[in-house]
Amino acid sequence: MNDAALRPAAFLDRDGVLNVDDDYVFRPEALRLIPGAAAAVRRMNEAGFVTVVVTNQSGVARGYYSEDEMHAFNAYLAETLARDGARLDAIYACPFHPDGIVERYRADHSDRKPKPGMILRAIADLRLDPARSFLVGDKESDMQAARAAHVDGFLFEGPDLATFVEGILTARATRR
Ligand SMILES: [Mg+2]
Repeated sequence: MNDAALRPAAFLDRDGVLNVDDDYVFRPEALRLIPGAAAAVRRMNEAGFVTVVVTNQSGVARGYYSEDEMHAFNAYLAETLARDGARLDAIYACPFHPDGIVERYRADHSDRKPKPGMILRAIADLRLDPARSFLVGDKESDMQAARAAHVDGFLFEGPDLATFVEGILTARATRR
């Protein structure tokens, strides 16, 4: 395949990057966006990055909420961002955990970060170019998953996602 046909992506962790990590959040009314989240996603949209959420959701395996509830929260997050003109192109979520109490989701799954399964799948599904892509996460496991997928990883420690993403895009523009 011609690399020019492949698109650059911005991979985004969910909890602690787009929304405040309130521990196993799943009720839509509990959603609290990270400051600058919508502006950051909008900026990446405009810069031509396919925006892809890659999120571990072991709360499903732990029995805290269902897979349907997880999908509903993700949809609500996407709608909330969209109201501010910010588009999430795809959301990959991993409901598995090796110590899960829900049998169906008890697995040491290749999707669960620090493994790169979700990122690699998105690269194949959406025809993405890892060399021109980057990932923003708030944990070392996010960075490990990015490295394993040969994608640049950036550790977000707050407070404002738009400022953080602007720094990444500026650094990449001057590197070229
Ligand atoms: Mg996180």
